[in-house]
Amino acid sequence: MDKSKIKKGDQVKVVSGKETGKTGKVIRVDREHRKVFVERLNMMKKHTKPHPKKNPQGGIIEREAPIDISNVMLVCPACGEPTRVGYRLLADGGKVRACRRANCGKDIDRV
Ligand SMILES: [Zn+2]
Repeated sequence: MDKSKIKKGDQVKVVSGKETGKTGKVIRVDREHRKVFVERLNMMKKHTKPHPKKNPQGGIIEREAPIDISNVMLVCPACGEPTRVGYRLLADGGKVRACRRANCGKDIDRV
C-alpha cells in the first residue's frame, strides 16, 4: 500500500528545503525513491546536447528536480490549506482520501 498519499496531479505545498512555502502541481511521483516532481519548483539547469528536432542549439535547459516526498503536504482542494491525508473507508469497500484538518475534514478523492 502506498504510504505517501500524494498522487500525480495533486496540488502540494513545500514545507521544507529551499522551496519552502511554495505550492505547485505534482507532475510525477517516484514511489521507489519517495520523491515528487512539482511543476516549476526546485528547477535545475541541465546541459543538453543538440537534438535535431527538439533542441537544435543544444545548451542549457531547466527542468524540475525531485523533492523529497516528506517535504511536501497536500493542499486540500476543499479548504485550500496544506494537510496530512487521511483515509475514510466506504461501505462498498473502497477508500477515499480525506483532509485531516479539524475544521474541514472533507473527502478529497477516491483511491
Ligand atoms: Zn480541507
